[in-house]
Amino acid sequence: MIDTHCHIDYPQYQEDFDTFIARQKAGGVSKIIVPGVSAESIQTIKAVCQKYPDYLLAGIGLHPTEVKEDWQEQMQQIANELPKNYIALGETGLDYHEDITFKEEQKTVFKQHLKWALQYDLPVIVHSRDAVEDTLSCIREVDTNHTLQGVFHCFSGSYEVAKQITDMGWFLGIGGVITFKNCKLAEGLAKGIPLDFIVLETDAPYMAPVPNRGKLNESIWMCYVVEKLAEVYACSPEHIIAQTDLNAKKLFRLGN
Ligand SMILES: [Zn+2]
Ligand SMILES: [Zn+2]
Repeated sequence: MIDTHCHIDYPQYQEDFDTFIARQKAGGVSKIIVPGVSAESIQTIKAVCQKYPDYLLAGIGLHPTEVKEDWQEQMQQIANELPKNYIALGETGLDYHEDITFKEEQKTVFKQHLKWALQYDLPVIVHSRDAVEDTLSCIREVDTNHTLQGVFHCFSGSYEVAKQITDMGWFLGIGGVITFKNCKLAEGLAKGIPLDFIVLETDAPYMAPVPNRGKLNESIWMCYVVEKLAEVYACSPEHIIAQTDLNAKKLFRLGN
């Protein structure tokens, strides 16, 4: 299993870091992608990823909820870092859920990430919350030749939205949400979203799947997401793991 979205640089994981990693490796997690969220996170992510090169892989980006007064300085620091040793731009995107004070700046920042992704030929990790229309129009505006690739991480949208994303050749990051009661995601996928466009993720420390909902999330718990996907696609958990691994390797251009 490849965890395509895990904030393992967060303080919650630092105390027993090596034990944590050993547990993920023993539980069948072959790689973990650590997305950037701010300029400040650059150094902490570097520090954790250096401990386990080829196992922990870093992204770099400015999360939409981190777009505040100092966004220009943060973007400058990110620009200075690019493109060395990063496997993806992100997370980046639009989040209108709680605060839309910096709505326009969020769009500017997101589009700049998309331009960098084109310039440096990197995939994009997209965070989109209550903003899917604007997110898609930013992508269409920048990626006029349809060369970008990316993932809508922590996807929980409808079949119609999933279809728009996968029709562009982009991926859906599926995590704990699919196991939540009252969640319609499984039904949406079952309507006809091919497994070829799905990657696994935790979004740890958040989004722990049932039966561990509310706990500090771990990549090994993606097994519960795999179980649910096996039901949706009427296949074995092994097949889900093999196909989502292949998808993640394709998207993030990972070796074996
Ligand atoms: Zn996110
Ligand atoms: Zn995240």
